[in-house]
Amino acid sequence: MQVQIEIPAFSGHISGMSSSLLEEDGEPPGQTVKALGTIDCLHHSPATILPFPSASEEPSTSIVPRKTFRRTFFPHVTAREWNSWHWQVANRIRGGERLAKFLQLSQEEQLAVNGSDIKLPLAITPYYLSLLDPADPLQPLRRTVVPTTSEFIRGPGEADDPLGEENQSPVPGLVHRYPDRALFLVHDFCSTYCRYCTRSRVVGHGAVRATKARFEQMLDYIRRTKSIRDVLLSGGDPLLLADERLEWLLKNLRAIPHVEIIRIGTKVPAVLPQRITPQLVKILRRYHPLWMSLHFIHPDECTPETVKACTRLADAGIPLGSQTVLLRGINDNIETMKNLTHSLMRMRVRPYYLYQCDPITGSAHFRTPVEKGLEVIQGLRGFTSGYAVPTYVIDAPGGGGKIPLLPESVAGRQGSDLLLRNYEDRLFRYPDVI
Ligand code: SF4
Repeated sequence: MQVQIEIPAFSGHISGMSSSLLEEDGEPPGQTVKALGTIDCLHHSPATILPFPSASEEPSTSIVPRKTFRRTFFPHVTAREWNSWHWQVANRIRGGERLAKFLQLSQEEQLAVNGSDIKLPLAITPYYLSLLDPADPLQPLRRTVVPTTSEFIRGPGEADDPLGEENQSPVPGLVHRYPDRALFLVHDFCSTYCRYCTRSRVVGHGAVRATKARFEQMLDYIRRTKSIRDVLLSGGDPLLLADERLEWLLKNLRAIPHVEIIRIGTKVPAVLPQRITPQLVKILRRYHPLWMSLHFIHPDECTPETVKACTRLADAGIPLGSQTVLLRGINDNIETMKNLTHSLMRMRVRPYYLYQCDPITGSAHFRTPVEKGLEVIQGLRGFTSGYAVPTYVIDAPGGGGKIPLLPESVAGRQGSDLLLRNYEDRLFRYPDVI
């Protein structure tokens, strides 16, 4: 039997909102809240805009300015409501009919969102929706969150669990692949679902719940396994846990003497930056050393709201790294990737990994040849600072772990000399020690 953790869902009181946990169709309790009355308002709260000259307030490809979007679709929502992560989660766009009120859906999108074949649920926060181009189904951000019929096609070599996580799970929800690290799947809930998600077999189905019984089982395994010195909280998005629940988990992990590092993997700063509240940051900074892997795929995600969220996290002393998936027609060119890595650096987020897209079922329209990834890395290396060049990796199918891929830089040997190729394709000689 599963036992819910008996702690209040939210630490602060938001007017008109019940503090009780609610279930929303197909998703676990504890993360969704009652809608806050009617949808009205709004203007940008001045508090959400950071003076940050390098980050664009409007996404580069947007046709409808964001303020117009908000005034048009949410005319009665107050700034306080819009800037509340609870409101954003409660008012996510979930179905095709509602989505069609905001976007001119292409035939491919309509068939996907209204059909019965969809496996990964559709959900987009109003905030992230405001970054989408209503008229262009090929706009990069839109392609990552609006389903199309292409995701129903199973290509050769694709699998529901390409990384073999299910086979490396000693207790439900915990993946122990590397000797000193464990992946702790907190729940399967995200505020916005990415169509290329590696865990699309699991997320959004409401089957992996943030229950005390499950957490205790995973904590017990970690307590017993002294080789684990690094725990990565992932999911679903761990930051969608209520503050008290997240703190309970962090406190219990921190109490295990051999757990040196806690990491959190999250896409919240990109899709729900309102979640990074002063209260949350206050909690997080109590459990150092705590690191964060943030998930960004395109420079259009680096809005003033996101800058503010990352600034809060960085100011709390949390080292921030970004994980980006290489996606066809979305970020698979040098210019876009350079813009992204530079935007991240300005937000004090170190570009950490560039992932070759995993061969999950229905991912062929997102995947690029490996050659493309090498070309992108080649175009960054030497043309920007080393900090801005992520490590390009393939997560080996079947559970082999991350394998880095590098453009060829060793051209050969002449005697004891090593012949090296630089970023301009010029050859240099290094007197190696043999
Ligand atoms: S935020 Fe992460 S876990 Fe959630 S849908 Fe996107 S890729 Fe998957």
